[in-house]
Amino acid sequence: MTRTAIYPGTFDPPTYGHMDIIGRAARLADHLVIGVAINRDKGPLFSLEERIAMVEDEVRPFAAKGHARFTVRPFEGLLVRFAKDAGASMIIRGLRTTTDFNYESQMVGMNARMEPEIETVFLMADGRYQAIASTLVREIARMGGDVTPFVSWGIASKIYARVGRAAPGTS
Ligand code: ADP
Repeated sequence: MTRTAIYPGTFDPPTYGHMDIIGRAARLADHLVIGVAINRDKGPLFSLEERIAMVEDEVRPFAAKGHARFTVRPFEGLLVRFAKDAGASMIIRGLRTTTDFNYESQMVGMNARMEPEIETVFLMADGRYQAIASTLVREIARMGGDVTPFVSWGIASKIYARVGRAAPGTS
């Protein structure tokens, strides 16, 4: 039986925190479906197509290692419905702070009522990556700070180009 897990997020942009969680999830599932939220109202820095392409690029090294199969897909609407349609038995969520915990504990209860067959699995990133949040990465880049401790070089250069800043140390 194939174990399919869904890992949903906005990935605006994908960070080392996301990638750490993806690496862990790939050890729990045979097939990891990474759901990139359309999030029209959040006004993301990167378009849906850009975020999907960035996640695909970042996941490629994992896929080459052959842990699990990866699929990157857009989604909107109810997460449990997306998970069910993908044939998933697990929803993977990352936990960083007590704020994440408070929000997630409420969500997990409601999702479990809607789809009792789908289990939510919480993972924590390695200590080095726990504090990373896409929102802060975007803010640091806008202010001309160095985001390379938080995202890959490929992503960092895309963020600097988007916010109209030179990468620190290159100008
Ligand atoms: P963010 O909340 O940073 O905008 P997403 O909506 O893309 O990011 O997050 C998708 C999932 O990844 C969520 O479950 C979130 O808690 C998790 N996540 C993001 N960054 C980290 C991190 N540094 N450590 C653990 N989990 C994380």
